[in-house]
Amino acid sequence: MAYNGSFSPFPLRKKGEKLPPLKERLAKIGLVTDWDYVLHLPLRYEDETRITPISELVAGIPAQVEGEVTSQRVTPRSLTATVSDGTGLLQVRLIHFYPSQASQLKEGSRVRLYGEPRGSWGGMLEMVHPRIRRALERDEDLPKTLTPVYPAGEGITQPWLRKRISRALLDVTLKDLLPEDMRKRLGLPTLEESLRFLHHPPRGTTLSDLDMRTCPAWKRLKFDELLAQQLALRHSRSERRKIAAPALVPNDGGALEGKFLSSLPFRLTRAQERVWREVAADLGKPVPMNRLVQGDVGSGKTVVAALAALRAVEAGFQAAIMAPTEILAEQHYIGISRWLDSLGIRTVLVSGSQRAAEKRAALEAVAKGEAQVVIGTHALIQKGVSFQKLGLAIIDEQHRFGVSQRLALRAGDGLLTPHLLMLSATPIPRTLAMSYLADFDVSVIDELPPGRVPVSTKLLSIAKRDALIAGIGREIARGRQAYWVCPLVEESEELDLAAAKETFEELKAALPGATVGLIHGELPQEEKEAVMDSFKSGQTSLLVATTVIEVGVDVPNATIMVIEHAERFGLAQLHQLRGRIGRGDQKSWCMLLHGEPLSENSRERLNVIRNSTDGFEIARRDLEIRGPGEFLGARQSGVPMLRFASLEEDGKLLEEARNAADEWLRRDPGSALKHAGRWFSGREGFLGA
Ligand code: ADP
Ligand code: MG
Repeated sequence: MAYNGSFSPFPLRKKGEKLPPLKERLAKIGLVTDWDYVLHLPLRYEDETRITPISELVAGIPAQVEGEVTSQRVTPRSLTATVSDGTGLLQVRLIHFYPSQASQLKEGSRVRLYGEPRGSWGGMLEMVHPRIRRALERDEDLPKTLTPVYPAGEGITQPWLRKRISRALLDVTLKDLLPEDMRKRLGLPTLEESLRFLHHPPRGTTLSDLDMRTCPAWKRLKFDELLAQQLALRHSRSERRKIAAPALVPNDGGALEGKFLSSLPFRLTRAQERVWREVAADLGKPVPMNRLVQGDVGSGKTVVAALAALRAVEAGFQAAIMAPTEILAEQHYIGISRWLDSLGIRTVLVSGSQRAAEKRAALEAVAKGEAQVVIGTHALIQKGVSFQKLGLAIIDEQHRFGVSQRLALRAGDGLLTPHLLMLSATPIPRTLAMSYLADFDVSVIDELPPGRVPVSTKLLSIAKRDALIAGIGREIARGRQAYWVCPLVEESEELDLAAAKETFEELKAALPGATVGLIHGELPQEEKEAVMDSFKSGQTSLLVATTVIEVGVDVPNATIMVIEHAERFGLAQLHQLRGRIGRGDQKSWCMLLHGEPLSENSRERLNVIRNSTDGFEIARRDLEIRGPGEFLGARQSGVPMLRFASLEEDGKLLEEARNAADEWLRRDPGSALKHAGRWFSGREGFLGA
C-alpha cells in the first residue's frame, strides 16, 4: 500500500514538541553529501506508468486506476467513496482524513489512485489510503518511469526525497572512474546508466529483477561497493607499512626456542611448524604484523602463541596474551608459565578478580619490564596497565573482542607499534576472509595433532534425560570425566545461573558415586580455579557448567559432553563446546539433548553438527543462517559494512572486485582511491584501522 503520510512508523511526538532539525534527521539515515543521496537506492517501486481497468484489478497487487467518484460517505472518523471507470467499481476508504482529501474525493471529481486493492465487505475491491491525484488532462502523459520509494526517516516525505535525489543525480559527476576497458571486460554497465536506471527504471522493467537485485545495474552497484571495500583495505594495509614496529629477532640465535621445543611432550605438527614459520617471518620485520592464526578447536594454537611470546622475549621485549574469560586466562597462565618458567622467563597473570595487592604487584612487574610474558583478560587494557617494552600483543579467541579492544592492546608506547597476533577457532568462510577480514594475513593450522579420535555426536530427546544420567554414571564409574552444559535461558545470566545450580543439585543427588562440580561466570576467581583444578586432576568427575567453558578449556581426560537444550545454541557455539572433548586418545561422545517438539529448522541445524566435525562446513552453514556478524567480532569490524552486496550471494563478484582492485591500484592508484573515498566518505571506519 502506498505510504501517504497518514500513518507514521515513528513514535508520535507530543503536541508542540519539535522534530530535530532536518539536517540531523537526514544524517541519521546516512544522507549528508550529494553522493549519499545518489547512493540512497529505492526500497521498492510503484508502477504509475500504467492505468489498470478496475475490472482487471487483483487483490494484493498494487496498481493504478483512474475514474470518477460516484459517491462519498463521511463519518466523523472515516471517509468512504466509490470510484467508477466504466469497467467496474472500486471502494476507497480513508480512516482519518484531511478536509483537502474530502474535497479531492467529492462526488463527480475525476481522480487517479495508486494503492493495493483488497477484498471488502460488500464484495467490491477496496483501496485503503491510496495515493490520490487528480486525473490526467487530455494532453498529459503518464510517467515514463517507475516511481521509486526510498527508505525515509521521521518527517521526511517521499516527494521531498525524490526531488532531492533527482537534483543530486544532476549535480554530481557520475562519470565512471573505473577504466573503460576493465568495465567492458567485466560486462558491467556504466555507473551513470546503472544509477539512473535504479532510481528511475523505465516503464516495462520487471519488478522481480529489481527486487532480486539481479539486473546488471544492481550488479554494477554491488561490484562498486565490493571494489571500494577492497581498495580501502589495501590502502589501510599500505598505510600500516609506514608504521614502525620492533623487528623481533632472537639475540641468542634461537637457543631458547630450541630448548623450549625439546621440553615439550610432543612434536609440533607440520601445520603448526608452517604457521610458526609464517608468524616468525612477520615478527622479524620492522612493520607491525597483523596476522590471524585460524585453527579448529584442539589444533594446538596455544603452543604457537607461546613460541611467538618467546621470540619477543628473546629479542628483549615483552609479550602480552589477552583471553576473553578468566578461566581461559588462568588456564593459559598455568600452562604457559609451566612451559616458560624452566627457561627462566617470568610470566604474570593480570585479571579483574585478583586481590588488590596481588594485582598491584603484577602491574608493577609489568611496568618495570620484570614480567616478560603477561597473561590476562580485558584487565590488560584497563587504565593503570603500562608495559615497559611491549613488542607483541596476542589475542586469543579474537572474535570475542571488539576492534577497539584489539587495538587497545597493541597501542604501544608511541614510538614502536607492537606486532599483533590473533588466534581464532572460528573458521572464516572464504568470502569473509576476502572482504571484511582482508586486512589480516591469515595462517591456518589445518591439521590436528596425531592420535585424536573423532567425537561421535548424538541427538537425544529430553525425554531420555534420566536414562542418559544413568549412562553417564556408569561411564564415570569406569574412570571417565564429563561436562554437562546447561541451557541458555533467554539472554538472562541470572536465569542461566539458576538453571545451572538446579541441574548441579539434581545430578549430585542422582549420582551419589560421582564427585560433581559446578562452574559459572559469577564464581570468585579462586573458586573457579579450585573447581577447574579439581576437574583437571580428575578428582571431580562431572562438571556442570554454563557456557563459560565454551572457549579454550583443555582437559584431555574429559570424554563426554552433554549439552542440554542444544537447539538454543548457535552452530558455531556448539562446535566450540564440543571442541572441549576429543582432546585425548580416547573415544569421546557429545550428546545433544533437545526439547520436544523440535522444529524442522532446529532439527536441520542440529543435524549439521551431528553430521560434521568440520569447522569450515559448520561455519559456512552458520553464515548462511545468521549472517556475518558472528564472525566479525563482538562489535563491528572496523571495516565499512556492506549495504548492497551480500557475502552469501555475491562470492563471484567479490572475487572479481578483488582482482579489479589489484589491477586498478597498479594502473592508477589516484583514481582508485578516489573511488573508495566516494563510496565511504564520512562513513565511520573508512580506511579501517
Ligand atoms: P586450541 O587450538 O583449541 O587452542 P590447544 O592449544 O589448547 O588447542 O591444544 C589442544 C591440546 O593439544 C593441548 O592439550 C595441547 O597441549 C595439545 N597439543 C598441541 N599441539 C600438539 C601436538 N603437536 N601434538 C600433540 N598434542 C598437542
Ligand atoms: Mg585455544
